[in-house]
Amino acid sequence: MARVDLDGNTIKPMTICMIGAGGFIGSHLCEKLMTETQHTVLAVDVYNDKIKHLLEPDSLPWNGRIQFHRLNIKNDSRLEGLIKCSDLTINLAAICTPADYNTRPLDTIYSNFIDALPVVKYCSENNKRLIHFSTCEVYGKTIGSFLPKDSPLRQDPAYYILKEDTSPCIFGSVEKQRWSYACAKQLIERLIYAEGAENGLEFTIVRPFNWIGPRMDFIPGIDGPSEGVPRVLACFSNNLLRREPLKLVDGGESQRTFIYIKDAIEAVLLMIENPARASGHIFNVGNPNNEVTVRQLAEMMTQVYSKVSGEEAIESPTIDVSSKEFYGEGYDDSDKRIPDMTIINKQLGWNPKTSLWDLLESTLTYQHRTYAEAIKQAIAKPSAN
Ligand code: NAD
Ligand code: UDP
Repeated sequence: MARVDLDGNTIKPMTICMIGAGGFIGSHLCEKLMTETQHTVLAVDVYNDKIKHLLEPDSLPWNGRIQFHRLNIKNDSRLEGLIKCSDLTINLAAICTPADYNTRPLDTIYSNFIDALPVVKYCSENNKRLIHFSTCEVYGKTIGSFLPKDSPLRQDPAYYILKEDTSPCIFGSVEKQRWSYACAKQLIERLIYAEGAENGLEFTIVRPFNWIGPRMDFIPGIDGPSEGVPRVLACFSNNLLRREPLKLVDGGESQRTFIYIKDAIEAVLLMIENPARASGHIFNVGNPNNEVTVRQLAEMMTQVYSKVSGEEAIESPTIDVSSKEFYGEGYDDSDKRIPDMTIINKQLGWNPKTSLWDLLESTLTYQHRTYAEAIKQAIAKPSAN
């Protein structure tokens, strides 16, 4: 049966140039596009480990609809050709792990702003549609975080709900290099918006709010550097797999809303297939119902991991560390991130579905199945020598 868009029109197969397709979000988006649509993907990345299962063997049912192009968009003249022969470009490429923002601020700014410039330019010059991945971090801190701790206004949603069209972007000082990422993302958003206003670029900007699930980041010492610091899901998974306490940065008081990657990908597919409803918009994509403090997340992950692994939790499951010790100089944090869903609801009729417990259960089942054996061997090795 032909698939139809939200207005009942038949969806025509399109060619999508997906930059950063080999990453966490890209791998899930490629999977969705291959298994549920007839679109073709030109998958651009420097790595392809996370999409290998979609590229090989040749007998896969979508053979011919996905092509991998190993290239670095910093310096490769093939990029414009790929954008030109596509109907839509999706840019996911970025350095996007907080441990890098204050320790590699130059790489962070180049990756998130300078390297994205040619992508925007080629789309604008060739009249191609662009879906660009920004971040919820462009909101920075909430207005409420500047009120006295005991102020009743802190409970008023007007002081913390993040709205695409009205909330300000509040970053810390320049010395707090944590904000190099948010600031670079904000400037590329403004540039894209201006290309839309002045040159008619057809764009959609996505602001993900802590999308998590299988294949996110890496487990240090297994499929990434042993000294590397991934995002919180992979940090806590690593601690659980190694039976170490989970490290709570500055008491784990910051609040986040986590959304299951598969729910979020549904929203992206709606944007891809409903250009008239998605173009010219900035969309929050998150799950306002899944809010926890980082400490609560640690407690829930400990419980869920016990259930899926059959191993009892260790005696002291968490330990406090200072942000300076964990991330180094220049770290700062977003206090609270609750997305307003009005715009995405109105334009695309989309809502997230999966509860935090359920998404952690499926994700930690995957982590356990994928890494538990490798960790056991890595731990056993030194003593065997
Ligand atoms: P990821 O690191 O898993 O994926 C990014 C991919 O881009 C990687 O595979 C990387 O190799 C590739 N890449 C980076 N620089 C490149 C270059 N110069 N040339 C070619 N490929 C390059 O990250 P992700 O979680 O999938 O995030 C994708 C996008 O979404 C990013 O722009 C990120 O800022 C944004 N985002 C994600 C989240 C989230 O919750 N996961 C939150 C906020 C924003
Ligand atoms: N965090 C933590 N312990 C860890 C890793 C992260 O307490 O091992 C905290 C971090 O300080 C932040 C939150 O978890 O408050 C989310 O961090 P993440 O790296 O996932 O990205 P962010 O949401 O800040 O972009």
